[in-house]
Amino acid sequence: MGPAMTARSPSKTKKASRADTPAASSLDQLAITQLNGVGDKVAAKLSGLGILTVQDVLFHLPMRYQDRTRIRQVGTLLAGEEVMVEVEVDVSEVVIRRRRSLLCRVSDGTGSLTLRFFHFSQKQAASLARGTRIRCFSEVRKGPAGLEMVHPEYTFVRESESLPDSLTAFYPATDGVNQLMLRKLTDQALGLMEKRSPAELLPQDSEALAGYPNLATALKTVHRPPAGIDVDSLLDGSHVALQRLAIEELVAHRLGLLQQRLRRRDNQSAVIAPAGDLLERLIARLGFPLTGAQARVTAEIREGMRSASPMLRLLQGDVGAGKTVVAAAAAALCVESGMQVAIMAPTEILAEQHLLNFTEWFEPLGVEVGWLSGKLGARARRDAIEAIALGRSGIVVGTHALFQQDVEFSNLGLAIVDEQHRFGVHQRMALRNKGVAGQVPHQLIMTATPIPRTLAMTAYADLDLSVLDELPPGRTPVNTVAVESSRRGEVATRIAAAIAEGRQVYWVCTLIEESESLQAEAAEDTSLWLQESMPQVRTGLVHGRLKSQEKEQVMSLFKQCQLDLLVATTVIEVGVDVPNASLMVIENAERLGLSQLHQLRGRVGRGAAASTCILLYQAPLTKTAHERLDIMRNTNDGFVIAEKDLSLRGAGEVLGTRQTGAADFRIADLSRDADLLGVVTVLADGVLDSPAGVAALIRRWIGDERREYGAV
Ligand code: ADP
Ligand code: MG
Repeated sequence: MGPAMTARSPSKTKKASRADTPAASSLDQLAITQLNGVGDKVAAKLSGLGILTVQDVLFHLPMRYQDRTRIRQVGTLLAGEEVMVEVEVDVSEVVIRRRRSLLCRVSDGTGSLTLRFFHFSQKQAASLARGTRIRCFSEVRKGPAGLEMVHPEYTFVRESESLPDSLTAFYPATDGVNQLMLRKLTDQALGLMEKRSPAELLPQDSEALAGYPNLATALKTVHRPPAGIDVDSLLDGSHVALQRLAIEELVAHRLGLLQQRLRRRDNQSAVIAPAGDLLERLIARLGFPLTGAQARVTAEIREGMRSASPMLRLLQGDVGAGKTVVAAAAAALCVESGMQVAIMAPTEILAEQHLLNFTEWFEPLGVEVGWLSGKLGARARRDAIEAIALGRSGIVVGTHALFQQDVEFSNLGLAIVDEQHRFGVHQRMALRNKGVAGQVPHQLIMTATPIPRTLAMTAYADLDLSVLDELPPGRTPVNTVAVESSRRGEVATRIAAAIAEGRQVYWVCTLIEESESLQAEAAEDTSLWLQESMPQVRTGLVHGRLKSQEKEQVMSLFKQCQLDLLVATTVIEVGVDVPNASLMVIENAERLGLSQLHQLRGRVGRGAAASTCILLYQAPLTKTAHERLDIMRNTNDGFVIAEKDLSLRGAGEVLGTRQTGAADFRIADLSRDADLLGVVTVLADGVLDSPAGVAALIRRWIGDERREYGAV
């Protein structure tokens, strides 16, 4: 149950209860109090479950089922099954061992089993006498003397009592609202639906929905599954009825995001349309021309910032695609218009690298680049904050420190966030609120995690998307090999050879779900071992427990080619740029996600030299682990890898848990339903023409309240 369901405004109840007779109004206008058995007291309890209207009852879906539609033969039962049997009591006795209990031996001609009761009355014991016929429903367990049922539900068999023809549904319930009541309410709601089904809001004749049941049929199936249905497919969501509902929910979600994007247009921001040639002068300083993709994306950003309503753009570009240059181009446009730019990176190392680049590029052009990190001394910090507040710093580079309350910009026009997956929603919002009063800065969010197009259109429908789909020229693809961990001695030899040729090498130590300190220890051990086996090699070590100054020192020595080998934990995962490094070793590669491996591997292959990535693994490999390493060996394309990651590990891996967690679906599951997303986009576009349809879908699935989604 999403929070939005419970967050609906109570005014809706009032409006609905004024609704006319059941026959005339649609089910989302019909208050729950119109159903039999629902007075004000029950209605209040139901509202706690998010149920205010008859339509809400239909969208309050079962979480599990019991199959009482058929009688099973005792001889065929397996422990763990929940079944109904019809049996005759053979022996019934009260035994007193550890506990006083009533044991009934029962059979149906195909086999026998024991019923065990710990709580029972004298009368009950007597009623279960030899020869009595009963119907029992319970889970079957393994007991000391064969299969048994503990405290089964049972009824005495009268003449040809009929069985239900659908599975029994169990709903999320609450105090004062039990299963029986929920079943009665759904029966009534389903009955009303027969006469007048809830509005079909998707174009049912669309080809995209071919093969799926209509909404009414899907709801009927989910609430009252016919006997013989594949229950597992209902529970895991793969049944077409649930898929039909998931599609509709995803369409509603996409429409909600698109609407949010429209609403953003109501905000004001500075028009950035400089007339000068700062951008041209910046490009001239780079020492290389922009790639076609960089030029295209720069034009997209320029167009976005020209508008008086805020741009919110996600820039995706594979590792090494050259996002920093694009960020600098955007910054140049903004600065030339007399507005400030903030650039924020998730780690000190990355922020420092941006600082180096931006200082080198911009200071000769007369633009002052400010610096704000958590590690600044009090005095330096005060100076930095003053320069920002007075507008002296045209560009400010920093870490999370930029979010802090006392950091006030003179006139922030553009906020650039690098490696966005490392930041939470609130942090980005904090930067968004640092604009001039009444204005929202334009935002450029950069990510090196390529997101498959279909997934991006659903998860980030509220953002403008730009893609850097071309690498700078002269890159040689990284050659990737998988090597069993026991052969690390040979790997060391290979490292020594590469270093003898003047190349530099990364060795990445990874431990999954272990503490920072364990990671650091492992890296220390590895670094010692490497130093012992190659005393001539200049080795450095960075891990999360070093002070940022120490880290910076090691990194800059490595950058200046004064270290040959850098042993590191995954702190170097994103952004670090050393073109002369051409060999990378990654430990425990089989335990990392593809996207993360790809990020790490992107640290090499940045120069002209042929680069190699050695994936060390612990044998034996599982089939999937094998498959994953194969993908890494066979492709360098981040988008292909993201597609594979999506199918192997799901959307969480691709988007980061924060992003998927932000959208809590009632039925849909971005991982499981990835293959529905194409259909979802088509259908959502089809509904867009009808504002009433859009509103109704959003109300049905998301609720009336405005919802803040992850990406704004
Ligand atoms: P990422 O997209 O991973 O942040 P970077 O911005 O760090 O990539 O760029 C990676 C490397 O490519 C840097 O060394 C950068 O100077 C270089 N680079 C960027 N754009 C170009 C270009 N158009 N031509 C040549 N090299 C480029
Ligand atoms: Mg980068």
